Amino acid sequence: MKDSTPIAVTSRSFSRHPVLRRELLERFANVRFNDDGLSLSGESLIAFLRGAKRAITALEPLDKRVFDALPELEVVSKYGVGLDMIDLDAMEQHGVKLGWTPGVNSLSVAELALAMAIELLHRGPEATAIIRDGEWRQLVGRQLTGRIVGVIGCGNVGKEFVRLLQPFHCPILVYDLVEYPDFYESHAVRAVTFELLLREAEVVSLHVPLDDSTRGMLNAERLRLMRKGAILINTARGGLVDEEELHRLLVEQHLAGAAFDVFALEPPPNRELLANSNVIATPHIGGSTEEAILGMGRAAIEGLTRARPVGDVRHPERSEGSRRGDASLRSA
Ligand code: NAD
Repeated sequence: MKDSTPIAVTSRSFSRHPVLRRELLERFANVRFNDDGLSLSGESLIAFLRGAKRAITALEPLDKRVFDALPELEVVSKYGVGLDMIDLDAMEQHGVKLGWTPGVNSLSVAELALAMAIELLHRGPEATAIIRDGEWRQLVGRQLTGRIVGVIGCGNVGKEFVRLLQPFHCPILVYDLVEYPDFYESHAVRAVTFELLLREAEVVSLHVPLDDSTRGMLNAERLRLMRKGAILINTARGGLVDEEELHRLLVEQHLAGAAFDVFALEPPPNRELLANSNVIATPHIGGSTEEAILGMGRAAIEGLTRARPVGDVRHPERSEGSRRGDASLRSA
C-alpha cells in the first residue's frame, strides 16, 4: 500500500522529471508537484507548502517565517546539496527533520570546474567572440597540464576536482579548515595557507560552502593577492567573491579570466562583469546533468523517509554510525 502522507515538491526540475515523478508516485499517493513552474519564495512558498507534512525543496528560501507559518511540516528533504537557503536554527526549533545526502552531485560540479579551467586557459570565450564577429585570427592559450592549481575547500566537490586533475600532473595546493591527510598524501596535494594558495596558484577554484566563515572570503584585498595572469573559477556559491573587484581585475588584466556558475544575486544584475570576453558565465548548472539530477532526485525521495533531526546532521559525531571525516553541516 502506498503512503498517503501529503507531500509537496517545490523543485521545478524534479517536478518536470518523468522518472523522478514516477518513482515518487510509486511510493506516495498524495503528492503535489510544482507543475506551473513557479519560482517560489515567501508567501507563494508558504501557500504552496501549506498542508504538506513532507516536502522536497531545492533553492527555495526556507526562512523562519516559512517554518513559523507551517506547523504541520515535519520533513524537508533537500534536492541538491547546498543548505545555505535553509534557516537551520529555525528548522531545528520547529523540530522539522532534514533529508540530506552530501556529495550526490559532486562529480557533475567538478567536471564543470575542470571544463571551465581548460576553456579559460585556452582562451575559448575570447576565440569564440572573435569568430562570431566574423574575424579569423589565432590567440595563444595555455595548457592546464603542469600548471599550479589552488583548491579552496576540499570536501566532496573539492576532492572530486582533485581526482579529475590527476592526469594533468598539476602541482595542487589546497586550503581547507579541515585536514584530510590520507587524501592529500594519496593525491599528491599540498595543504597551504589561504594567502600562499592565492599568491602561487595559476588556477584557483572555489569549493567551500557559503556561511559566516566564507562570505566575502575573496574580498578586494585577497583577490589582489592572486598571481598575475591567474584564472578564478567559482562553481560553489555566489557571495564568496567581491564581483565588482573581480571585474576591475579582469579589466586591468591582472587576472586572465574568470568562470562563474554561481552569483551573489541570481540572475546576476552586474552585466558589466558578464560582458568581459574572458568571462564564462553559466546559470547555476553545476549539478544540472542528467546523472546528477537522477542522483539528487532519488536521494531526495529517500530523504522523505530517512530524514534526521537537524542537530544530528549538524553534529554527526553525536549520532550513531558516523565516521570521522564525513561531511557535516558545521560549515553548510
Ligand atoms: P562539503 O561540505 O563537502 O565541502 C566543503 C569543504 O569546505 C569542507 O572540506 C570544509 O571543511 C571546507 N570549509 C568550510 N568552511 C571553510 C572555510 N571558512 N575555510 C576553508 N575551508 C572551509 O561541500 P561540497 O558538497 O563539496 O560543496 C562545495 C560547494 O559547492 C558548496 O558551496 C556547494 O553549495 C556548492 N555546490 C554547487 C553546485 C552547483 O550547482 N554549482 C552543486 C553542488 C554544490
